[in-house]
Amino acid sequence: MTLLDGDAAAATPVDDIVLSVRDLRVWYGTARGAVRAVDGVSFDLRRGETLGLVGESGCGKSTLGRGVLGLLPDAAKVAGEVRFRGEDLVTMPRRRLRALRGPHLGLVFQEPMTRLNPLMRISDHFFETLHTHQRGATKAQMRQQALDALGAMGIPPTRFTNYPHEFSGGMRQRIMIALALVLNPAFVVADEPTTALDVLVEAQIIAILNDIKKNFDTSILLITHNLGIIAEACDRVAVMYAGRIAEQGAARPTFSHPAHPYTRELLASTISLSTTELHYIPGAPPDLIDPPSGCRFHPRCPDAMRVCPTRHPPTTITQLDQRVDCWLHGPDELIPPGGTAPLDREDIGVAHEA
Ligand code: SF4
Repeated sequence: MTLLDGDAAAATPVDDIVLSVRDLRVWYGTARGAVRAVDGVSFDLRRGETLGLVGESGCGKSTLGRGVLGLLPDAAKVAGEVRFRGEDLVTMPRRRLRALRGPHLGLVFQEPMTRLNPLMRISDHFFETLHTHQRGATKAQMRQQALDALGAMGIPPTRFTNYPHEFSGGMRQRIMIALALVLNPAFVVADEPTTALDVLVEAQIIAILNDIKKNFDTSILLITHNLGIIAEACDRVAVMYAGRIAEQGAARPTFSHPAHPYTRELLASTISLSTTELHYIPGAPPDLIDPPSGCRFHPRCPDAMRVCPTRHPPTTITQLDQRVDCWLHGPDELIPPGGTAPLDREDIGVAHEA
């Protein structure tokens, strides 16, 4: 194991990195105190790479996706760095950020019906987006661009002037993807793009995401709670728990040899055709106003040790190049004597399966 020095800087050629997030923090003030929805997240995204962000509901995935694009409500406070091709999206003027969204940064939303205006034809959605960012383009040019983007998603030109309600849920989601990609952005956040779709349509969307990666060199941050989608569509995976990334690495080795107990528990809870007994993670994700001390997963972790509630584990790198925050991977010199003894469960009050 190697102890990372400071942040999660990767040994990647710098010019290959499209997006570099360092120590990103997002919090909201409430009457009970600050909700730390994202609390010190770092990762890199390379050109043409898809990074899957996975975790239970309420772990901060969507806040992170929107925080990266500067799309959070005004009440949110943001600190840290989000470097897109060298420019910091956190500190840049809003006007500049708005100009980058569309031609450079894209977002595919969870529920297309709430994002497509039911009173506007699909053609008008495209003309509006294209006109905002390509003032000099003629209507014929914009129409061709829109039809090309829709065609790449399998939507025929005959449907160009239809209204959103005239499409199925899967087609609406493909239209949303076409809208996000029509200006060929370098980076796209896809936030639960297959939620509420049946498995056949879900498979189509995954195939489309794979095509985008191959044909357009687009970098994608794919947010989902579905590990199967990550396995099929992502090069790398980042597992988020309670506002932090517990583990990140290449998708295949991370799924075959998960380094963090939370990743292991998530994988064990996935239902497949071979499932004979349901597994669940005891307890619930913590309150982000007052999260557990030390490693935030310790009240639910089957491997928790005495050191775990005392301080947050530093990031270490495994032999499979996973970056993992867990005392099981050391560094031993930072663990106090007796720290590796099992944590007394009675102090925590969460029962674990034998
Ligand atoms: Fe479990 Fe401790 Fe690792 Fe946290 S640091 S995941 S509590 S073993």
